[in-house]
Amino acid sequence: MRKTVEDYITTIPDYPEPGIMFRDITSVLQDAEGFHLAIDEMIRLLDGLDFDVVCGAESRGFVFGAPIAYALGKPFVLVRKAGKLPRETVRQSYELEYGQATVEMHTDSIRPGQRVVLVDDLIATGGTIEASAKLVERLGGQVSKIIFLMELAGLKGRERLARYDVDSVVIYP
Ligand code: 5GP
Repeated sequence: MRKTVEDYITTIPDYPEPGIMFRDITSVLQDAEGFHLAIDEMIRLLDGLDFDVVCGAESRGFVFGAPIAYALGKPFVLVRKAGKLPRETVRQSYELEYGQATVEMHTDSIRPGQRVVLVDDLIATGGTIEASAKLVERLGGQVSKIIFLMELAGLKGRERLARYDVDSVVIYP
């Protein structure tokens, strides 16, 4: 039988902490067919969508976002953790389970009115990508769609992103 993306994902119980089921993408990437399939399936989520820019969230969002942008002939823009971008940036902080995180984008990375597709490997609570979406909007961009390889549906990240068009290749309960 043909393999699906889910077949290439490894689940590690109790990593990085007891009670967490970690969904590992390295087993997808280290198999040429798995990697191809994952990118093709993510591109399929964008069928018929008109947009200008692909934007990936550090760091696993780069791994999936960059090949999607390349394949579709679009520019690729980085959302990075604070302190890594060398030119003028906008910053957005968000709450983690314990503490806070900050993400940044170069101010010239999105032009006002551009339609942006946001990409990350996985949505859990949705905090990371919500902060990324806010950065895009602060730069005048419009979030056309947000796509993930994997979604942990039980954490209800989709509810947090209710005002956006959200889609994922593999949905875990
Ligand atoms: P959120 O901000 O939606 O709560 O968490 C999503 C972020 O945490 C993503 O950037 C993702 O890379 C990372 N993450 C959280 N849990 C997992 C997991 O089980 N597997 C992987 N690959 N990434 C995870």
